[in-house]
Amino acid sequence: MDINKLYEMLKKTNEAKQIYFNKDRDLVFELLESLVLNKERYGYMACPCRLACGDKDRDKDIICPCDYRAPDLEEFGACFCGLYISQALNDNKIQSEYVPERRPPEKIF
Ligand code: SF4
Repeated sequence: MDINKLYEMLKKTNEAKQIYFNKDRDLVFELLESLVLNKERYGYMACPCRLACGDKDRDKDIICPCDYRAPDLEEFGACFCGLYISQALNDNKIQSEYVPERRPPEKIF
């Protein structure tokens, strides 16, 4: 998969929802490359910052965009990996802060 095309496609669909890529472009491209690698490895885009088990059903909460993105954007202005940021953080209305793991421990293998 072409990383630049993936970038443009995700940028467009997410910005329509007021969700933005991190301003650190190197980080964004590193994470997109990991997503593509996970897609090749598992058949789905498992979160690059978490350990997938390889079972799509058990990993479905961490398929990007994960189930935790919306509450993390709301509470911290960024997702766990920092790939996506909120409108408020994009507009510098809030400070960037550490995003703790929200995935329940029982789901982590
Ligand atoms: S933490 Fe970010 S990069 Fe990871 S799956 Fe969730 S939305 Fe995607």
